[in-house]
Amino acid sequence: MTEPTPIGHGGRLTIDLAALRANWRRLAEVAECPETAAVIKADAYGCGIDRAAPALWREGCRTFFVAHLSEARIAREAVPEAAIYVLNGFPPGSAPAYRAANLRPVLGSRDEIAEWAAANRAEGVTRPAALHVDTGMNRLGLSVAEGLALADDPVVAEAGIDLLMSHLVSAEVEHDPLTDHQAAEFARVRAAYPGLRASLANSSGDFLPACRTDLARPGYALYGGNPRPGRENPMRPVVRLEAGILQVREVEAGATAGYNARWTAPGRRRLATLSLGYADGYPRSATGRGEALVDGVRCPFVGTVSMDLIILDVTEVPEAALRRGAPALLIGDGLDLDTVGRNAGTIGYEILTSLGRRYERVYRD
Ligand SMILES: *Cc1c(COP(=O)(O)O)cnc(C)c1O
Repeated sequence: MTEPTPIGHGGRLTIDLAALRANWRRLAEVAECPETAAVIKADAYGCGIDRAAPALWREGCRTFFVAHLSEARIAREAVPEAAIYVLNGFPPGSAPAYRAANLRPVLGSRDEIAEWAAANRAEGVTRPAALHVDTGMNRLGLSVAEGLALADDPVVAEAGIDLLMSHLVSAEVEHDPLTDHQAAEFARVRAAYPGLRASLANSSGDFLPACRTDLARPGYALYGGNPRPGRENPMRPVVRLEAGILQVREVEAGATAGYNARWTAPGRRRLATLSLGYADGYPRSATGRGEALVDGVRCPFVGTVSMDLIILDVTEVPEAALRRGAPALLIGDGLDLDTVGRNAGTIGYEILTSLGRRYERVYRD
């Protein structure tokens, strides 16, 4: 909080690429998998694919996962030589677009497999793809039975399948029997595909020996999220969000603040108005329970979070720290992603992926 608040923007988002790289290295050590990939969907969880992917590449990451073709194209520009898998498969007829950018769809249905295999035959080039087997999410992928039945089908080779994967339902919940069940189901399918590389663990799964495979697939923890809720966060914070104080005022007991007068001062209070709101991606659902740090002091939100403004109760903050333009911290230090998510009735993942585009963005490395 040493720099002045930005001029021309409400808030400043600082993204620490050195911390991102350190987190990837840490996860690679913890996972004990032969290879650790990076999930960079949703614009690298809000941190920017164009900046995050090259930083991870420099650290040694060679495999990336995104959700959509549009994201994959940005990733392809950023890391021209990387293996890039597209988790949401591919829409009918879009195989040529995937092939043109050297992208690998994650195939999850008989139709997808057949269409990719046909494209391979038509081009006379077997381009790789992953096969997704659903071990419990019931969302994407072949069922375990379908996966087992397909194992001896020549279409697997025709479709260039080079990776077998599944996704964990609740790896962040300690000792969840569902995770063991999924790991066992995945092992059963894996045994039917000898020699094929396999990938199961997300960030939380990285910490579970039963989920170790050939390729770890962390996302959230790379960006500083806690992969083991309830325990100390082993990851370094990547994202820091600050906004400037626009005005400070004193109100008397009984005064109200914000739209629809949803807050009433219980006594004499000092309020500060911050230049940041829900149009910046800060959830309106943090109304009444969000908090910010001013000069290290926790200050509760009062009134509704509005489009461009948030009001803080700064009564406990020394007056010297309340000058016009002084920064308030909304994410960072004691306010980690998981706390911010909880304060908004959501999870840190949604806080990250909602990070707005109108902040001043500063990358550090
Ligand atoms: C998002 C996603 C991941 C990464 O999960 P995190 O919990 O963010 O580590 C891994 N695999 C798949 C299939 C995903 O959709």
